[in-house]
Amino acid sequence: MILNPHMVTWVCSMCTTKTVKPFYVNQQEYHNCPGKGMLTIPMIQEGAKVKVTVNEREDYISGEHVQMADGRPIMSVTVEREDGIDCSVYAPVVTTVKK
Ligand SMILES: [Zn+2]
Repeated sequence: MILNPHMVTWVCSMCTTKTVKPFYVNQQEYHNCPGKGMLTIPMIQEGAKVKVTVNEREDYISGEHVQMADGRPIMSVTVEREDGIDCSVYAPVVTTVKK
């Protein structure tokens, strides 16, 4: 247990949201971004050299319930850091009809 974690400022690259929270090992902060249709977007530590990319879905939707932002279907968000790439995937929701 960390008794006095240091505070980190998290910012969003898609809007003006900024928050300060205690930092724990391997923590990632997310928020529902008003700048990207309320998608759950990873936030980045203020000052970090990181590129956040929202990736559109490029295949046929065919009635699946997919995440949308700005009228476009979104497949994933990638975060490119100096030491690697993280990817958050928005999987479509399956529905069925009970007969
Ligand atoms: Zn945002």
